[in-house]
Amino acid sequence: TERTLVLIKPDGVQRGLTGEILRRIEAKAYVIAQLTKSDAAPDQLAAHYAEHEGKPFYQPLVDFMLSGPIVAAVVEGNDVIKGFRSLAGQTDPTTAAPGTIRGDLGRDWGEKVQKNLVHGSDSVESAEREISIWFG
Ligand code: ATP
Repeated sequence: TERTLVLIKPDGVQRGLTGEILRRIEAKAYVIAQLTKSDAAPDQLAAHYAEHEGKPFYQPLVDFMLSGPIVAAVVEGNDVIKGFRSLAGQTDPTTAAPGTIRGDLGRDWGEKVQKNLVHGSDSVESAEREISIWFG
């Protein structure tokens, strides 16, 4: 069975949406195999977002991810990588489809980073790399 790394970003935790987001994952019948809440460490974020280093939103993104606790989960199920990204919706919460986590619960807050509530791995290789960053 496939697995993916889900992060509930600081905006989701701070707004009290952890339960709502986990509920949607469980309602879809994916399995939450591991779950932790913690403050991200700078080296974890540098590894997690290495592909974005140098982009204009990189430092705002890292600062945002350090602004409060996050929840990390390993989520399992057939085709869960694609399936969770479908649950999450498009990156920009303004245009993410209603029915998705970002479309229903997110919006533009007028900041440099898109506060879009969740992260989900985008490939099997990314998932394994990211799970090792957050769960060792
Ligand atoms: P995630 O990787 O968090 O699931 P994603 O794959 O939809 O999101 P990426 O392109 O990997 O998006 O970007 C990582 C994160 O950086 C986004 O989730 C968002 O918070 C932020 N981000 C991406 N593009 C922009 C942008 N143009 N302006 C501001 N922030 C951005």
